[in-house]
Amino acid sequence: MCAVHTSSPHREKLSNAGAGRRTDTAAKADVIILGAGAAGLLCAREAAGRGLRVLLLERAAVPGRKLAVSGGGKANFTNRAIRPQDYYCHHSQDFCSPALASFRPEDMLALTRAWNLPVEERAHGQLFLTVPAQRLVRALVRDCRERGCRLLCDTAASGVSFGGERFQVEAGGTLWHGKALVLALGSPAWPQAGGSGMGYRLAQSLGHTVIPPRPALVPLRLAADDPAGAALLDLAGISLPVRISLPETACENDTECVWEDDLLFTHDGLSGPAALKASLFWREGAPLCVDFLPGRNVEALLDAPQAGRQTARTLLARHLPQRLADALLPPSLARRKIAELSRAARREITNAMQARILTPSGTAGLKKAEVCAGGVDTREIDPQTMRSLLRPNLYIIGELLDVTGLLGGYNLHWAWASGMAAGRNILK
Ligand SMILES: Cc1cc2nc3c(=O)[nH]c(=O)nc-3n(C[C@H](O)[C@H](O)[C@H](O)COP(=O)(O)OP(=O)(O)OC[C@H]3O[C@@H](n4cnc5c(N)ncnc54)[C@H](O)[C@@H]3O)c2cc1C
Repeated sequence: MCAVHTSSPHREKLSNAGAGRRTDTAAKADVIILGAGAAGLLCAREAAGRGLRVLLLERAAVPGRKLAVSGGGKANFTNRAIRPQDYYCHHSQDFCSPALASFRPEDMLALTRAWNLPVEERAHGQLFLTVPAQRLVRALVRDCRERGCRLLCDTAASGVSFGGERFQVEAGGTLWHGKALVLALGSPAWPQAGGSGMGYRLAQSLGHTVIPPRPALVPLRLAADDPAGAALLDLAGISLPVRISLPETACENDTECVWEDDLLFTHDGLSGPAALKASLFWREGAPLCVDFLPGRNVEALLDAPQAGRQTARTLLARHLPQRLADALLPPSLARRKIAELSRAARREITNAMQARILTPSGTAGLKKAEVCAGGVDTREIDPQTMRSLLRPNLYIIGELLDVTGLLGGYNLHWAWASGMAAGRNILK
């Protein structure tokens, strides 16, 4: 999918970079985009469509690796309802509003239609392809090429500088020159699909501040030495709908940290959409509160006249997998007849089922994280155009910015919206 050009009028070999370095070719690349992921590809397509000479440099052997594995290989590429409140930024979520307002889910749907990519809607308004996400990557690359964009793979950027009103980029042993530079290098999450921290380093070298990144949309671990969590470590594979919440103090911005979604037990903790969503706001030491029977009133179930002759474990196994009911119930109460249980004992059972406090010991780390929270400080970026407020003609887009969406198509939509915002405005 990647054309590897061995020579180009847009570049000079670094080995020539001494006294005799040539700079007369620099004007030929209007814009250099670093990173051919979702954001870089859509930005390149748009900028090339406006007649700009676009050079897109990608470290991996192929473009769009993260996009290709997204959504279990079917790319949850947007959501019916995209709002700034669905994003987390250390400073105001309002930063996202202009870009999200100028590129809406309908706009991305129109593109998928134009590319003949079939789509389906799943729960919570999530829009997925019904064909491999690789086809979306191919459509983007094809459009980029048809619009004259040059895409070079196996070309890792290792340094950038600005001088003489131009950017110089060191990549793949070559020095490249461009009037404008776009950083679309993503985050170090999921390094097995090309995630790297190079974007942060390059942004910092150009004067930008980086809010320390942390893994997000990531499974949470439970510690074997915490009795509340240890009881749940033998349940790998069980999945069920729950209501999960974080204390109000954990939630910044305007987000209400309560989610109803599926929870999946793993061999060392919690995964599934409910846990991944909570992980975006979870901080070391914070407790999670889990209701394993959302929408039910366990105390009323225990009080029902016909319940009295049963044990709590028999009754609850009608509503939950038996192994889970056994793990959640206080052992001293599980096998006693409900009629014998005091009000306090019934309340203890109800709390164990509907207000279970779990304190994760950590996250499963970058290798299992879909994204990183943190990134380039949005106060240094123009929200309309993604242009740096510190350097002329520098743009920063996608996950590299301190904008992190919830699970459900929000992160890819941010990549599209921020990529379009830059692509429409570069060198205007
Ligand atoms: C397993 C998984 C599933 C996901 N599923 C979804 C989903 O269904 N829906 C959703 O909304 N989000 C999903 N995400 C998140 C989403 O994929 C990312 O937020 C999105 O791809 C970010 O786009 P980006 O263009 O900013 O960065 P990326 O897609 O990461 O692109 C950055 C590019 O820069 C390249 N690069 C890195 N270093 C260098 C360098 N030094 N020189 C040149 N190039 C370099 C990388 O190889 C990469 O191609 C998922 C993520 C993962 C890991």
